[in-house]
Amino acid sequence: MVGTRAGWTNWAGTAACRPAAIEVPTSEEEIVAAVRAAVAAGQRVKAVGSGHSFTDIACTDGRLLRLDGYDRVLAVDRERRLVTVQSGITIEKLSRALVDLGLALENLGDVGYQTVSGALATATHGTGERWRNLSSQVCGLRLVTAAGEVLECSPEHDPETFKAAQVSLGALGVISTLTLRCVPAFYLHSVQERRPVDELLERFDELCADHDHFEFFWWPHTPWAQAITSRRSPEPGPGKPRRGPGSYLTDVLLDNHAFGLVQQLARLNRGWIPSLAAFTARAMGRREIADHSHRVFLNQRLVRFAEMEYALPREHLVPALREVRSMIERTGLLISFPVEVRAVAADDIPLSPAYGRATGYIAVHVFHRFEHERYFREVEAIMTAHQGRPHWGKLHFQDAAGLRPRYPLWDRFLAVRDRLDPEGVFSNAYLDRVLGPPRAGGTTAVNRGSGRGSRADG
Ligand SMILES: Cc1cc2nc3c(=O)[nH]c(=O)nc-3n(C[C@H](O)[C@H](O)[C@H](O)COP(=O)(O)OP(=O)(O)OC[C@H]3O[C@@H](n4cnc5c(N)ncnc54)[C@H](O)[C@@H]3O)c2cc1C
Repeated sequence: MVGTRAGWTNWAGTAACRPAAIEVPTSEEEIVAAVRAAVAAGQRVKAVGSGHSFTDIACTDGRLLRLDGYDRVLAVDRERRLVTVQSGITIEKLSRALVDLGLALENLGDVGYQTVSGALATATHGTGERWRNLSSQVCGLRLVTAAGEVLECSPEHDPETFKAAQVSLGALGVISTLTLRCVPAFYLHSVQERRPVDELLERFDELCADHDHFEFFWWPHTPWAQAITSRRSPEPGPGKPRRGPGSYLTDVLLDNHAFGLVQQLARLNRGWIPSLAAFTARAMGRREIADHSHRVFLNQRLVRFAEMEYALPREHLVPALREVRSMIERTGLLISFPVEVRAVAADDIPLSPAYGRATGYIAVHVFHRFEHERYFREVEAIMTAHQGRPHWGKLHFQDAAGLRPRYPLWDRFLAVRDRLDPEGVFSNAYLDRVLGPPRAGGTTAVNRGSGRGSRADG
C-alpha cells in the first residue's frame, strides 16, 4: 500500500477522488490479495490505468489499484502473432516492444499514454473504415473477480464473459493479463494538409474507402480542416521519419506549444477566438511523414482539454457534423479547439459503441481552462437525435435508462456483471449512473459512494 487518503486526479483535471487507499500491485497474486482485502474490509476497489479518461470512470473512495508497476510483456508467439502482457503496460511501451519483434498492433488511437487495459475498458479506437477498435484485438484475458478468483476467458473458453470483458468499463473485475492478436510490423505514409471542410464532407465516403486511415480536424468558425490520410505498407516509402530531424519543431513546438499559446490568447479575450481559429487554420502547412506505424499513429498531447466523443451510424456522420456547424453559428458559442472526425469498422462486442454498425465518430474538445458543459450538451442533443452512443471514457450526460435502448446486447452484459459482481465491488458513481446500480444494491458487503465525480456529470 503506498498511501491512504491521497488524492487522485485524471489527466484532464475533469475527475478527482480521494481513495481510502492506493496500492501498486506488481503481480497477479498481489492484485488478488488487494481485491480480497478490499472485500473483507467492505470497500469498493478500482483499477486505474493512466487516468486518460475524461469521466470519473476510474474514481473510487475505496481502494485504488495503480497498475504502473505491472507492465511487462509476458509471452510472444511469433508464429501465431500473439502477445501476452500484464494489464498495466502502456500502448506506447507495448508498441515499441512489438516493433523489435517484427510485430505491431493492427490499429491505434492518436496517443499511446493509455494502459492497454484502460484503453480496452472504454473501447478506445483509432480511425480507418476497415479497422475495428483495440478491444477487437484481444483474444484472451485473465480477470480477478469479486470472489478473489482468477477467471480465464477467450472466444473458446467462457465466451459470454469474454465478450463482456472486451469492453468492460472496469465493471467486471480487475483484468490481470491480456493476449492480443498482432499483425506484421508495418509502416505508415501519412499526409496532413489543410482542405476545405465542405470538400471533406462531400467526399467523406470516398476518402475513407481510398485510404487505410482517414480523419480530419475541423476548425470551428472557419471553412478549413486539417485532413490526415495514411496508407500502410511493408516498406518506409516517401516522407520524413517522425522521429527525425525537425520533429521537435513540428510535434512539440508547433503542435503543442504554439497551439497552447493560441489557447492562452483565447483565454485573454474570447472575442479573438474566430480570428485565432482562422489564423491557425491558415498556418497549417502540408506535412508528409513515413515511419513505423506506432510512431505515426501516436502523437504528443501537452495542451490539456476536456472532450466528448460520439459514435454514430456511419451514414449519420456527415449530416450530424453539418448540424454541429449550424448549432455553433446559431448559438454564438466560441470554440477554440478543433472538432475531430473519424471512421471505424463495426464489431460484435456488447458494450462497444461500434457494436453492429459501421461507425463514424465525432469528438468535440474544449481547452481545460474553459467551461465545456453548454457546448457539450448542445452537441449531445444532436448526437442523440442521430442514434449516437457516447465514448465511455469521454464526457457525456447519459444514464442507464437512456443508454440501454442503444445497445442490443445491454442486458447480456448486465447478466455477466450480476453474475461476477452482484455486490458492486468494482462499481463507482460513474458505473452506477451509466449501468445502473449493481443487482444486490451493493449495500451489504460494500460501502456506497465513490468519489466526487466529473464536473460534467449530468
Ligand atoms: C490526450 C488523450 C487522447 C486520447 N485519444 C483517444 C483516441 O484516439 N481514441 C479513443 O478512443 N480514446 C482516446 N482517448 C481516451 C482514452 O483512450 C480512454 O479514456 C482510455 O480508457 C484511457 O486509458 P487509461 O489507461 O488512462 O485508463 P483509465 O482512464 O485510467 O481507466 C479507464 C477505465 O479502465 C479501467 N481499468 C483500467 N485498468 C483496468 C484493469 N486492469 N482491469 C479492469 N479495469 C481496468 C478503469 O477502472 C476505468 O474504468 C484519449 C484520451 C486523452 C486524454
